[in-house]
Amino acid sequence: GRPVLTISGLNVDYGTGPGAVHALRDIDLTLHRGEVLGLAGESGSGKSTLAYAVTRLLSPPGVITGGDVLYQPPQDGAAPVDLLALTPQELRAFRWQELSIVFQGAMNSLNPVHTVHSQLTDVLRAHRPGMKSPERTARAEELLTLVGISRDRLGAFPHQLSGGMRQRVMIAMALALEPEIVIMDEPTTALDVVMQRQILRKLVALREELGFSVVFITHDISLLIEFSDRIAIMYGGRIVEEAGAAEIYRDPRHPYSDGLLHSFPALHGPRRELTGIPGSPPHLTAMPTGCAFHPRCGKAFDPCAEHVPVLAAPDGADGADGADERTVACWLHHAAPAPAPSVADSAP
Ligand code: SF4
Ligand code: MG
Repeated sequence: GRPVLTISGLNVDYGTGPGAVHALRDIDLTLHRGEVLGLAGESGSGKSTLAYAVTRLLSPPGVITGGDVLYQPPQDGAAPVDLLALTPQELRAFRWQELSIVFQGAMNSLNPVHTVHSQLTDVLRAHRPGMKSPERTARAEELLTLVGISRDRLGAFPHQLSGGMRQRVMIAMALALEPEIVIMDEPTTALDVVMQRQILRKLVALREELGFSVVFITHDISLLIEFSDRIAIMYGGRIVEEAGAAEIYRDPRHPYSDGLLHSFPALHGPRRELTGIPGSPPHLTAMPTGCAFHPRCGKAFDPCAEHVPVLAAPDGADGADGADERTVACWLHHAAPAPAPSVADSAP
């Protein structure tokens, strides 16, 4: 599909001046029409910051310090929209209509004193002023049915619904205005594994039916592999590898991707900790030099502590197999810069 969202060179800091820390660095990412793009990484890797930055929901001290985020409307010949340049008023129109987001723990953000009916129809009332009350109700019923909830639950209050149902109501709200892009930040983390899979299966089916694109964010790599078309893996505020879900699963190239895949949580039984990777992710305030993963990487060598690896196709990839449009940021896959001559070497 054609690109629907193109992120290039995106940088986000927390704070300004000498105390500023880098939260996102040089993010290049393209979402294509109709695809599910998964974002993986441990907490603190920048996944949520990226979702907030792209939707302009970043709150201080978070600040976008560079880059572009372009949205391509579906209409033929429509000019791309620069999301970073939208006024607050334009943003309000853009959200829900073109792009909606379901946050972590969203099921708890339903208003406890209003029925499902009133919360679903509120979105329609705000954005479709021409719609009559019976049409709004009909649309609310349709939306509930879409996410697999019986229309007789329309009059229910949130506390009368299970967690899984509340989460599906949030997804129904996100789909209410038929947006082109739905961003899901850990949308199912609070639910049990069976319910998570059921909701995601529903979402992927709806994506096929309605044709929207999904950015799906979770720390659970097994869910990502199962439900994404492509996966971008983040570490220390950068994307370290991006490839098709099947390619990442079959042949992870970045040592961090490899570690994440080996800490695959059990599909049944209790969740396991990430056992594939020693140590813990870096703090933004103490980001390692060079490759941020080097203190934890079993394969680190000369250039790693000094030079930041660029995200690019691995050396020797000729694109001949077509399927593998992979990029990786690791010195194992790119010609490393020559080490700086040491003082001893340069002495006469
Ligand atoms: Fe490991 Fe070096 Fe690759 Fe970083 S660049 S992942 S430290 S081998
Ligand atoms: Mg997060």
